[in-house]
Amino acid sequence: MALSVFTVDNAVIDSLDLKVTLLGQGIFVHDSVYETFEKTHRIFREPRACNTMFLGDHVPVFLARTDETARFHLTVIDGEPTLTHDGNFVTTVLLPPKTGFFAQKTRTGLPFGMLATIQGWDMLAFAYLWPCELAKTNNQCRFCHSGNFTNQMVQAKTWQDFAYPVQDVVDVVRFAVDEDPRVKILQMTAGSTFDPDKEVEHYVTLLNEIERQVGLAKVDGGILFLTPPKNPKELDRLIDAGAGRLAFDMDIWDEKLFAQYCPGKATFTSRKQHLDALLYVAEKFGPNRACSVFVAGLEPVESLIEGMTFLAENGVVPLPSPWMPFGVCNPDLPKTPGIDYYRVMRKEAAKLYIKHGLEVPGTVGSSVCLSRDIWLRREFLVNEN
Ligand code: SF4
Repeated sequence: MALSVFTVDNAVIDSLDLKVTLLGQGIFVHDSVYETFEKTHRIFREPRACNTMFLGDHVPVFLARTDETARFHLTVIDGEPTLTHDGNFVTTVLLPPKTGFFAQKTRTGLPFGMLATIQGWDMLAFAYLWPCELAKTNNQCRFCHSGNFTNQMVQAKTWQDFAYPVQDVVDVVRFAVDEDPRVKILQMTAGSTFDPDKEVEHYVTLLNEIERQVGLAKVDGGILFLTPPKNPKELDRLIDAGAGRLAFDMDIWDEKLFAQYCPGKATFTSRKQHLDALLYVAEKFGPNRACSVFVAGLEPVESLIEGMTFLAENGVVPLPSPWMPFGVCNPDLPKTPGIDYYRVMRKEAAKLYIKHGLEVPGTVGSSVCLSRDIWLRREFLVNEN
């Protein structure tokens, strides 16, 4: 699968270059886009709706909305949603069709959009099922949008006090899978906790109820992002309950930068505990059952590739996701590294996926991650100059 090309700032770039540039720089969405398409397409002014647009070759891109000073704008030209750069035409884009999902409420009265969003084309993503306990101690990962808004949470309460009710979560899954928009991918993410064993227990309850009321096979078992337990054998319970894939995010491979950018993980759950969990799942249940996100752009590309290589050689699927600086007001974090960095990274990731027979979960991909885009185009990318 080849890549479409576009002209931006007199340079010719491809759709993956454009995606990382948009995620790094942000985009201003004109009112005319909402007015023209909000009745027929999935585009909302509400930021939690996680709007997605698709470039010509079906590359999904999150609309990282920012103010009018952005160089990229999404506007309407000749009735089409159109991307411009400094006022110059770049490309028309596709918006996904409208869904009734965001108009629904759970039985306890929570809007579905508070719990989850529809990401890309057909992925139901619970981004933050409960708040991150590392953030409670101001040890949130420095790049994390959710964690950076959590450190004010009530100190005396536990993550269970804030977790969405199990039946509410199942209501959301059932509607999105069986009614609208009939999603195929289920991703469940939450904050890290100081009690991973209880977290496993909670996920087992969720999986059992989803299996009973919806059917996990409809979403290939889903992919769960969780805190690694001290004893990785605890994870058997999740696989036994039907989980498709388990993810423990390393985020940063370089050990010094990991301690700097992920102080909570480095101190409380430790790099080793993450690695032990990943290697345990891959060894016991086979390749492609364990995954790990890397925030691509926060460390030198060499150490990122070293980390992806180590995991891939051990049957763990590395998921490189571009660093998105929006909403993270931290002057100590580097700027996004630019196209050349991502070009080196994507080629190496494509080689690893092929060499080790790894598959990134998903269908058309995620609007915020690059891994499935790379996987779908891996044969093309390993051969490009
Ligand atoms: S552990 Fe997860 S939720 Fe908590 S701050 Fe880090 S990335 Fe965010």
